[in-house]
Order: sequence, then C-alpha cells, then structure tokens
Amino acid sequence: MLDDPAIGRETMSRLSKPSLLLALIGALAVAICCGSEPPQASNDQYPIQEGDGISDRVIKTDEEWQQILTPEQYEVTRMKGTEPPFTGKFCDFHEQGTYTCVCCGNALFSSEAKFDSGTGWPSFWAPISDQSIKTAIDTSFGMVRTEVMCRRCDAHLGHVFEDGPAPTGLRYCINSVALDFIEIGNEQ
Ligand SMILES: [Zn+2]
Repeated sequence: MLDDPAIGRETMSRLSKPSLLLALIGALAVAICCGSEPPQASNDQYPIQEGDGISDRVIKTDEEWQQILTPEQYEVTRMKGTEPPFTGKFCDFHEQGTYTCVCCGNALFSSEAKFDSGTGWPSFWAPISDQSIKTAIDTSFGMVRTEVMCRRCDAHLGHVFEDGPAPTGLRYCINSVALDFIEIGNEQ
C-alpha cells in the first residue's frame, strides 16, 4: 500500500496585525469619547420603574417642540439654555409631589430628594430613577460639567455636581422651566 503523506498543508489564515491594531485604536477612541459617565445614585436604591425606559422615547422636530413649548421652555430644554438664578418657580417651592419633564411628562425627581442648595435653582440629590435621566459631558463655556437630560425626550434639564448632601453627595441643579409638578395624590 502506498499512502501518500505529501498532502498539501493547509495554510492558516491569520488576521493581519496592522488591521487588528487599527481596530483596537478605534475601540479605544470610542471608549474615551463616550465611555465615562460620572458616579450616580445606585440602581438598587432607586429601582427601575416601568415605562421609564427608552422604549417609549419621545422624538419631535425642532418645529414641533417650538409649537408646544413656550420660548423660555424651548430655549432651555431644546437649546441647552439656563434660566437666571432665583427666577424659576420651583426654586423656593416646597410642595410634596413629583417633578416631571415639561416636554414629555416623564417623572424625573421626587420632592423628597429636593433640598435648598442656595444656588437659585431647584436642586435634588437624586433622580426618581436612574432610568429617568441620562448624562453627558458638557465642555461649553470653558468648563467641564455633566449635563443632565430627560432620558425619554433628551430635554436638557441642567447639570449634576458632586457637592451635594447625603446620601448620594450629588447635586442635580435643574432649571425650573424644564419642569412641571404633580402634587402628591394627583399622579396618574
Ligand atoms: Zn422629557
């Protein structure tokens, strides 16, 4: 019998090293641009609420937002404006209830987490749920701040800072004009 051992050897195809390196650099760049979010209140403490997820996102054109918002609401929530301090209706406001997004009605903050920061803007130490809001790094005006937005409709709400009171140590500094208020007992 004549077995032929000289069967052609398979050549292993390998990923070329340069292309692998490029892929790694790309992934690193994405991680640097988008990856770092500031510390937030833990999900355990503020359980996820049904309906707060991004499955029911509200998306409208600028023209549509202009039709349903006042000029002040539009400037702050859709153009990332800031109301002057001590002018907002919720700065010195102490009723019990839920603060909602003026654009889409998403529940954002409980009166139980509101505190008097003395800054001139309504301030909260936590959102009603981590699923209510989202954050992004804001480098406008030569500062590095963490912007707070409504997770459902992307409305600009304000900024969050790490000089708040216990238990989170966070201070959500929010524009009154971005908020509506539902008194306790009137929730749907
Ligand atoms: Zn919203």
